[in-house]
Amino acid sequence: MEDCLFCKIIAGEIPSKKMYEDEEMYIFCDIDPKAPKHYLMVPKAHFARLEEMTDEQAAVLGKCLKKLPSLTGLLGLENGYRLIINQGPDAGQTVFHLHVHILAGKKMAWNPA
Ligand code: 5GP
Ligand code: ZN
Repeated sequence: MEDCLFCKIIAGEIPSKKMYEDEEMYIFCDIDPKAPKHYLMVPKAHFARLEEMTDEQAAVLGKCLKKLPSLTGLLGLENGYRLIINQGPDAGQTVFHLHVHILAGKKMAWNPA
């Protein structure tokens, strides 16, 4: 997808701090961390929002989530982590390639405000 920041990061055209990669997903450090550990888990296949997700992409996203527990050691998530998908303007989505925020490294309040 042309002009997509995360497609360019996945393709290596824009540098990123890669933490993990396989055939279906790319995990890297958020440039503006909101927690001591803040990663972005990005399915490689481009789609912007859940509304656009095909059945095949849904299966891939499920596989990515299922793999996450096996990556907790690599990512330092042993003490727990929070997953967030921002969808649309009220949630503050700024990059329109679906991604899962992985936040960890401190005890988090349950208040998204
Ligand atoms: P959203 O607001 O769409 O849910 O999340 C986009 C995230 O991408 C933000 O947390 C932002 O800090 C991060 N981000 C934006 N541009 C870059 C970049 O060039 N590199 C990296 N590593 N993260 C970025
Ligand atoms: Zn993209």
